[in-house]
Amino acid sequence: MAGKDFYETLGIGKSASQDEIKKAYRKLAIKYHPDKNPGDKEAEEKFKEISAAFEILKDEEKRQKYDQFGHEAFQGGGGFSRGVDPFDLFKDVFGGGGGGGGGFGSIFDDFFGGSSSGGSGEGSRGSDLRVSVSITLEQAAKGVEKEIKYHHHGECASCEGSGASSGSGKVMCSTCGGIGQVASNQGFISIRRTCPSCSGTGVMIEKPCQKCSGEGRVRKQGKVKVKVPPGVGHANRLCSRGRGDAGTRGGPSGDLYVDVHIEEHALFERDDDDLFHDAQIPFALAALGGTIEVPTLEGKVSLKIPAGTQSNKTFRLKNNGMPNLRYSSRKGDLYIKIFIEVPTKLTKEQKDILIKFADSCGEGNFSEDAGFLSKAKKFFEND
Ligand SMILES: [Zn+2]
Ligand SMILES: [Zn+2]
Repeated sequence: MAGKDFYETLGIGKSASQDEIKKAYRKLAIKYHPDKNPGDKEAEEKFKEISAAFEILKDEEKRQKYDQFGHEAFQGGGGFSRGVDPFDLFKDVFGGGGGGGGGFGSIFDDFFGGSSSGGSGEGSRGSDLRVSVSITLEQAAKGVEKEIKYHHHGECASCEGSGASSGSGKVMCSTCGGIGQVASNQGFISIRRTCPSCSGTGVMIEKPCQKCSGEGRVRKQGKVKVKVPPGVGHANRLCSRGRGDAGTRGGPSGDLYVDVHIEEHALFERDDDDLFHDAQIPFALAALGGTIEVPTLEGKVSLKIPAGTQSNKTFRLKNNGMPNLRYSSRKGDLYIKIFIEVPTKLTKEQKDILIKFADSCGEGNFSEDAGFLSKAKKFFEND
Protein backbone atom coordinates (compact mmCIF):
# COMPACT_ATOMS: atom_id res chain seq x y z
CA MET A 1 0.00 0.00 0.00
CA ALA A 2 1.65 3.13 -1.19
CA GLY A 3 1.15 6.45 0.49
CA LYS A 4 1.90 7.25 4.01
CA ASP A 5 -0.86 7.56 6.52
CA PHE A 6 -2.28 11.05 6.24
CA TYR A 7 -2.41 11.51 9.98
CA GLU A 8 1.18 10.49 10.29
CA THR A 9 2.12 12.80 7.46
CA LEU A 10 0.67 15.74 9.31
CA GLY A 11 1.97 14.44 12.62
CA ILE A 12 -1.41 14.38 14.27
CA GLY A 13 -3.62 11.85 15.99
CA LYS A 14 -6.66 10.21 14.41
CA SER A 15 -8.97 12.23 16.60
CA ALA A 16 -7.41 15.55 15.71
CA SER A 17 -9.85 18.43 15.42
CA GLN A 18 -10.12 20.52 12.27
CA ASP A 19 -8.23 23.20 14.10
CA GLU A 20 -5.37 20.88 14.86
CA ILE A 21 -5.35 19.63 11.28
CA LYS A 22 -5.13 23.17 9.97
CA LYS A 23 -2.43 24.11 12.41
CA ALA A 24 -0.38 21.07 11.55
CA TYR A 25 -0.72 21.72 7.84
CA ARG A 26 0.14 25.35 8.19
CA LYS A 27 3.26 24.58 10.11
CA LEU A 28 4.46 21.98 7.64
CA ALA A 29 3.40 23.89 4.56
CA ILE A 30 5.49 26.82 5.64
CA LYS A 31 8.43 24.59 6.34
CA TYR A 32 8.38 22.62 3.12
CA HIS A 33 7.09 25.15 0.66
CA PRO A 34 9.34 25.00 -2.42
CA ASP A 35 9.76 28.75 -2.33
CA LYS A 36 11.48 28.30 0.96
CA ASN A 37 13.49 25.35 -0.25
CA PRO A 38 14.53 26.11 -3.79
CA GLY A 39 15.84 23.06 -5.62
CA ASP A 40 15.19 20.75 -2.73
CA LYS A 41 13.41 17.76 -4.28
CA GLU A 42 12.80 16.11 -0.95
CA ALA A 43 11.11 19.18 0.45
CA GLU A 44 8.96 19.36 -2.64
CA GLU A 45 7.89 15.75 -2.23
CA LYS A 46 7.13 16.36 1.38
CA PHE A 47 5.17 19.45 0.47
CA LYS A 48 3.05 17.43 -1.94
CA GLU A 49 2.49 14.78 0.68
CA ILE A 50 1.28 17.11 3.36
CA SER A 51 -0.88 18.97 0.86
CA ALA A 52 -2.51 15.72 -0.21
CA ALA A 53 -3.09 14.75 3.38
CA PHE A 54 -4.59 18.12 4.20
CA GLU A 55 -6.77 18.09 1.10
CA ILE A 56 -8.52 14.99 2.42
CA LEU A 57 -8.52 15.61 6.14
CA LYS A 58 -9.80 19.16 5.99
CA ASP A 59 -12.98 17.82 4.46
CA GLU A 60 -14.94 15.86 7.04
CA GLU A 61 -16.70 13.81 4.41
CA LYS A 62 -13.51 12.79 2.67
CA ARG A 63 -11.88 12.27 5.99
CA GLN A 64 -14.57 9.83 7.01
CA LYS A 65 -14.11 7.90 3.77
CA TYR A 66 -10.41 7.87 4.31
CA ASP A 67 -10.82 6.65 7.87
CA GLN A 68 -12.99 3.83 6.59
CA PHE A 69 -11.26 2.79 3.43
CA GLY A 70 -7.80 4.28 3.61
CA HIS A 71 -6.11 5.46 0.43
CA GLU A 72 -8.30 3.12 -1.65
CA ALA A 73 -11.12 5.52 -1.11
CA PHE A 74 -9.41 7.92 -3.43
CA GLN A 75 -8.76 5.98 -6.59
CA GLY A 76 -6.07 3.59 -7.48
CA GLY A 77 -4.63 3.25 -4.06
CA GLY A 78 -1.73 5.39 -5.05
CA GLY A 79 -2.27 7.97 -2.46
CA PHE A 80 -3.49 11.16 -4.00
CA SER A 81 -3.72 10.36 -7.64
CA ARG A 82 -6.97 12.21 -7.96
CA GLY A 83 -4.94 14.95 -9.39
CA VAL A 84 -4.71 17.28 -6.49
CA ASP A 85 -2.26 19.97 -7.36
CA PRO A 86 -0.61 20.84 -4.08
CA PHE A 87 0.10 24.29 -5.34
CA ASP A 88 -3.49 24.85 -6.20
CA LEU A 89 -4.40 23.78 -2.73
CA PHE A 90 -1.82 26.02 -1.24
CA LYS A 91 -3.07 28.93 -3.25
CA ASP A 92 -6.55 27.94 -2.41
CA VAL A 93 -5.80 28.13 1.27
CA PHE A 94 -3.33 30.93 1.43
CA GLY A 95 -4.37 32.95 -1.51
CA GLY A 96 -1.84 34.03 -4.02
CA GLY A 97 -1.17 33.28 -7.62
CA GLY A 98 -2.99 34.42 -10.66
CA GLY A 99 -4.32 37.70 -9.53
CA GLY A 100 -7.56 36.42 -10.92
CA GLY A 101 -9.55 38.53 -8.54
CA GLY A 102 -11.78 37.23 -5.85
CA GLY A 103 -8.98 36.69 -3.46
CA PHE A 104 -9.08 33.97 -0.92
CA GLY A 105 -11.95 35.02 1.22
CA SER A 106 -13.55 32.29 3.18
CA ILE A 107 -10.92 29.61 3.26
CA PHE A 108 -8.30 32.05 4.30
CA ASP A 109 -10.44 33.40 7.06
CA ASP A 110 -11.50 29.99 8.06
CA PHE A 111 -7.92 29.00 8.26
CA PHE A 112 -6.74 31.80 10.39
CA GLY A 113 -9.85 32.17 12.38
CA GLY A 114 -10.80 35.40 10.76
CA SER A 115 -7.88 37.42 9.67
CA SER A 116 -7.42 41.08 10.29
CA SER A 117 -8.28 41.79 6.71
CA GLY A 118 -11.92 41.45 7.56
CA GLY A 119 -12.32 38.83 4.93
CA SER A 120 -13.44 41.09 2.19
CA GLY A 121 -10.37 40.94 0.09
CA GLU A 122 -6.68 41.22 0.06
CA GLY A 123 -6.09 44.57 1.64
CA SER A 124 -6.75 45.44 5.20
CA ARG A 125 -9.33 47.90 6.44
CA GLY A 126 -8.28 51.48 6.87
CA SER A 127 -8.17 53.05 10.29
CA ASP A 128 -11.00 55.01 11.78
CA LEU A 129 -10.14 58.65 12.16
CA ARG A 130 -11.25 61.30 14.58
CA VAL A 131 -11.55 64.96 13.92
CA SER A 132 -13.31 67.65 15.84
CA VAL A 133 -15.45 70.49 14.66
CA SER A 134 -16.10 73.65 16.58
CA ILE A 135 -19.46 75.36 16.32
CA THR A 136 -21.24 78.17 18.10
CA LEU A 137 -24.21 77.69 20.37
CA GLU A 138 -26.38 79.40 17.77
CA GLN A 139 -25.23 76.88 15.17
CA ALA A 140 -25.91 74.06 17.58
CA ALA A 141 -29.42 75.41 18.02
CA LYS A 142 -30.21 75.73 14.33
CA GLY A 143 -28.06 72.93 12.95
CA VAL A 144 -25.29 73.65 10.51
CA GLU A 145 -23.48 72.09 7.63
CA LYS A 146 -19.74 72.18 8.14
CA GLU A 147 -17.05 71.35 5.69
CA ILE A 148 -14.20 69.60 7.41
CA LYS A 149 -10.76 69.29 5.95
CA TYR A 150 -8.55 66.59 7.30
CA HIS A 151 -5.55 64.54 6.38
CA HIS A 152 -6.00 60.89 5.73
CA HIS A 153 -4.89 58.01 3.61
CA GLY A 154 -7.02 58.26 0.52
CA GLU A 155 -7.37 55.90 -2.38
CA CYS A 156 -4.50 56.18 -4.84
CA ALA A 157 -5.96 57.59 -8.01
CA SER A 158 -3.19 56.15 -10.12
CA CYS A 159 -3.97 52.50 -9.38
CA GLU A 160 -7.52 53.00 -8.10
CA GLY A 161 -6.48 51.59 -4.77
CA SER A 162 -5.26 48.25 -6.04
CA GLY A 163 -1.61 49.03 -5.43
CA ALA A 164 -0.62 47.44 -8.72
CA SER A 165 0.65 49.31 -11.71
CA SER A 166 -1.53 48.63 -14.71
CA GLY A 167 -1.23 45.14 -16.12
CA SER A 168 0.65 43.87 -13.12
CA GLY A 169 -0.34 40.54 -11.65
CA LYS A 170 0.12 39.19 -8.21
CA VAL A 171 2.72 36.87 -6.85
CA MET A 172 3.05 34.96 -3.67
CA CYS A 173 4.66 36.98 -0.90
CA SER A 174 8.26 35.91 -0.64
CA THR A 175 8.66 36.99 2.96
CA CYS A 176 6.08 34.63 4.38
CA GLY A 177 5.79 32.17 1.53
CA GLY A 178 2.16 33.07 1.10
CA ILE A 179 1.17 32.23 4.64
CA GLY A 180 0.51 35.78 5.66
CA GLN A 181 2.28 35.28 8.93
CA VAL A 182 5.85 35.14 10.05
CA ALA A 183 7.16 33.47 13.14
CA SER A 184 9.87 34.71 15.39
CA ASN A 185 11.38 32.70 18.17
CA GLN A 186 11.75 34.23 21.57
CA GLY A 187 13.23 31.66 23.86
CA PHE A 188 10.93 28.69 23.86
CA ILE A 189 8.03 30.59 22.45
CA SER A 190 7.39 31.01 18.80
CA ILE A 191 5.40 34.13 18.16
CA ARG A 192 3.41 34.53 14.99
CA ARG A 193 2.61 37.87 13.68
CA THR A 194 1.14 39.29 10.55
CA CYS A 195 3.64 39.35 7.73
CA PRO A 196 4.90 42.92 7.37
CA SER A 197 5.55 42.58 3.66
CA CYS A 198 2.08 41.59 2.61
CA SER A 199 0.07 42.67 5.65
CA GLY A 200 -1.11 39.14 6.10
CA THR A 201 -2.51 38.73 2.64
CA GLY A 202 0.07 36.25 1.43
CA VAL A 203 0.31 37.93 -1.92
CA MET A 204 2.43 40.69 -3.26
CA ILE A 205 2.00 42.79 -6.29
CA GLU A 206 4.35 41.98 -9.10
CA LYS A 207 4.83 45.56 -10.14
CA PRO A 208 3.74 47.93 -7.39
CA CYS A 209 2.15 51.21 -8.35
CA GLN A 210 4.82 53.87 -8.25
CA LYS A 211 2.59 56.56 -6.89
CA CYS A 212 1.71 54.69 -3.72
CA SER A 213 4.50 52.12 -3.54
CA GLY A 214 1.91 49.41 -3.86
CA GLU A 215 -0.08 50.40 -0.82
CA GLY A 216 -3.08 51.44 -2.83
CA ARG A 217 -3.46 54.64 -0.90
CA VAL A 218 -1.69 57.91 -0.50
CA ARG A 219 -1.63 60.61 2.11
CA LYS A 220 -3.96 63.34 1.04
CA GLN A 221 -6.28 65.99 2.26
CA GLY A 222 -9.84 64.93 2.57
CA LYS A 223 -12.92 67.09 2.62
CA VAL A 224 -16.20 66.08 4.02
CA LYS A 225 -19.42 67.95 4.58
CA VAL A 226 -20.95 67.13 7.91
CA LYS A 227 -24.52 67.94 8.76
CA VAL A 228 -24.61 68.90 12.39
CA PRO A 229 -28.19 68.43 13.55
CA PRO A 230 -30.08 71.03 15.61
CA GLY A 231 -29.81 70.37 19.31
CA VAL A 232 -26.44 68.71 19.06
CA GLY A 233 -24.67 68.58 22.39
CA HIS A 234 -21.14 69.15 23.45
CA ALA A 235 -18.96 66.09 22.78
CA ASN A 236 -21.64 64.48 20.66
CA ARG A 237 -19.95 62.36 18.05
CA LEU A 238 -21.04 62.12 14.47
CA CYS A 239 -19.88 59.35 12.19
CA SER A 240 -19.20 59.56 8.50
CA ARG A 241 -19.00 56.00 7.24
CA GLY A 242 -16.14 55.12 4.99
CA ARG A 243 -14.48 58.53 5.26
CA GLY A 244 -11.58 57.37 7.39
CA ASP A 245 -8.35 56.01 6.04
CA ALA A 246 -8.65 54.06 2.84
CA GLY A 247 -7.77 50.40 3.24
CA THR A 248 -4.57 49.03 1.82
CA ARG A 249 -4.74 47.46 -1.61
CA GLY A 250 -8.42 47.97 -2.03
CA GLY A 251 -9.44 47.02 1.51
CA PRO A 252 -12.48 48.77 2.96
CA SER A 253 -12.12 52.27 4.32
CA GLY A 254 -12.36 53.13 7.98
CA ASP A 255 -14.90 55.58 9.31
CA LEU A 256 -14.51 59.21 10.21
CA TYR A 257 -15.72 60.29 13.60
CA VAL A 258 -16.46 63.93 14.15
CA ASP A 259 -16.45 65.18 17.71
CA VAL A 260 -18.60 68.25 18.08
CA HIS A 261 -17.21 70.99 20.21
CA ILE A 262 -19.51 73.82 21.13
CA GLU A 263 -17.83 77.10 21.85
CA GLU A 264 -18.52 78.86 25.08
CA HIS A 265 -21.15 81.50 24.80
CA ALA A 266 -20.79 84.93 26.34
CA LEU A 267 -24.41 85.09 27.51
CA PHE A 268 -25.72 81.57 27.90
CA GLU A 269 -24.85 78.50 29.83
CA ARG A 270 -26.35 75.28 28.68
CA ASP A 271 -27.59 72.24 30.49
CA ASP A 272 -29.02 69.73 28.03
CA ASP A 273 -31.81 71.59 26.31
CA ASP A 274 -32.09 74.36 28.85
CA LEU A 275 -30.24 77.63 28.74
CA PHE A 276 -29.31 79.90 31.60
CA HIS A 277 -28.59 83.57 31.60
CA ASP A 278 -27.62 85.82 34.46
CA ALA A 279 -29.21 89.26 34.34
CA GLN A 280 -28.06 92.12 36.50
CA ILE A 281 -30.64 94.68 37.42
CA PRO A 282 -30.25 97.89 39.41
CA PHE A 283 -31.24 97.80 43.02
CA ALA A 284 -33.91 100.43 42.53
CA LEU A 285 -35.50 98.56 39.63
CA ALA A 286 -35.67 95.40 41.71
CA ALA A 287 -37.40 97.30 44.46
CA LEU A 288 -39.76 99.34 42.29
CA GLY A 289 -40.37 96.85 39.48
CA GLY A 290 -40.15 97.52 35.76
CA THR A 291 -39.16 95.92 32.52
CA ILE A 292 -35.75 94.77 31.32
CA GLU A 293 -34.49 93.42 28.03
CA VAL A 294 -33.03 89.92 28.10
CA PRO A 295 -31.30 88.04 25.32
CA THR A 296 -32.63 84.84 23.78
CA LEU A 297 -31.12 82.87 20.89
CA GLU A 298 -33.71 84.54 18.68
CA GLY A 299 -32.98 88.07 19.83
CA LYS A 300 -33.93 90.36 22.65
CA VAL A 301 -37.22 90.10 24.50
CA SER A 302 -38.79 92.11 27.30
CA LEU A 303 -39.04 90.63 30.74
CA LYS A 304 -41.29 92.09 33.38
CA ILE A 305 -39.65 92.46 36.76
CA PRO A 306 -42.19 92.66 39.55
CA ALA A 307 -41.63 95.14 42.36
CA GLY A 308 -39.65 93.61 45.20
CA THR A 309 -37.76 91.10 43.10
CA GLN A 310 -35.03 89.46 45.10
CA SER A 311 -31.56 88.46 44.06
CA ASN A 312 -31.36 84.90 42.67
CA LYS A 313 -34.95 85.04 41.58
CA THR A 314 -35.23 82.99 38.40
CA PHE A 315 -37.67 83.59 35.58
CA ARG A 316 -38.42 80.91 33.07
CA LEU A 317 -38.95 81.72 29.41
CA LYS A 318 -40.62 78.62 28.11
CA ASN A 319 -39.44 77.11 24.84
CA ASN A 320 -36.60 79.56 24.48
CA GLY A 321 -33.92 76.95 25.09
CA MET A 322 -32.25 74.53 22.70
CA PRO A 323 -34.18 72.24 20.40
CA ASN A 324 -34.15 68.62 21.42
CA LEU A 325 -31.77 66.52 19.34
CA ARG A 326 -34.20 63.62 19.08
CA TYR A 327 -37.60 65.27 19.14
CA SER A 328 -37.49 68.26 16.91
CA SER A 329 -40.81 69.56 18.21
CA ARG A 330 -39.46 69.81 21.74
CA LYS A 331 -37.51 72.71 23.08
CA GLY A 332 -35.86 73.46 26.35
CA ASP A 333 -36.45 76.61 28.38
CA LEU A 334 -34.43 79.70 29.06
CA TYR A 335 -33.90 80.59 32.70
CA ILE A 336 -33.10 84.16 33.58
CA LYS A 337 -31.52 84.52 36.98
CA ILE A 338 -31.61 87.94 38.55
CA PHE A 339 -28.63 89.53 40.24
CA ILE A 340 -29.13 92.82 41.92
CA GLU A 341 -26.49 95.38 41.40
CA VAL A 342 -25.47 97.20 44.50
CA PRO A 343 -24.00 100.56 43.65
CA THR A 344 -20.40 100.94 44.71
CA LYS A 345 -19.54 104.49 43.73
CA LEU A 346 -22.02 106.79 45.34
CA THR A 347 -21.96 110.55 45.22
CA LYS A 348 -22.43 112.51 48.40
CA GLU A 349 -25.99 113.26 47.40
CA GLN A 350 -26.82 109.63 46.67
CA LYS A 351 -25.33 108.58 49.97
CA ASP A 352 -27.46 111.06 51.84
CA ILE A 353 -30.57 109.86 50.09
CA LEU A 354 -29.73 106.27 50.82
CA ILE A 355 -29.06 106.96 54.46
CA LYS A 356 -32.37 108.71 54.68
CA PHE A 357 -33.93 105.78 52.89
CA ALA A 358 -32.31 103.28 55.24
CA ASP A 359 -33.40 105.24 58.30
CA SER A 360 -36.93 105.28 57.05
CA CYS A 361 -36.97 101.52 56.51
CA GLY A 362 -38.84 99.68 59.15
CA GLU A 363 -39.15 95.96 59.48
CA GLY A 364 -42.37 96.18 57.55
CA ASN A 365 -40.55 97.15 54.38
CA PHE A 366 -38.98 93.73 54.02
CA SER A 367 -40.25 90.28 53.56
CA GLU A 368 -39.06 87.59 55.96
CA ASP A 369 -36.36 86.28 53.70
CA ALA A 370 -35.03 89.55 52.42
CA GLY A 371 -31.68 88.93 54.00
CA PHE A 372 -29.95 90.75 51.27
CA LEU A 373 -31.56 94.06 51.96
CA SER A 374 -31.00 93.78 55.69
CA LYS A 375 -27.38 93.18 54.98
CA ALA A 376 -27.27 96.06 52.58
CA LYS A 377 -28.81 98.25 55.22
CA LYS A 378 -26.13 97.29 57.71
CA PHE A 379 -23.48 97.85 55.10
CA PHE A 380 -24.68 101.37 54.43
CA GLU A 381 -25.08 102.14 58.12
CA ASN A 382 -21.48 101.24 58.78
CA ASP A 383 -20.28 103.46 56.05
ZN1 LIG B 1 -1.22 53.45 -6.46
ZN1 LIG C 1 3.91 38.00 3.41
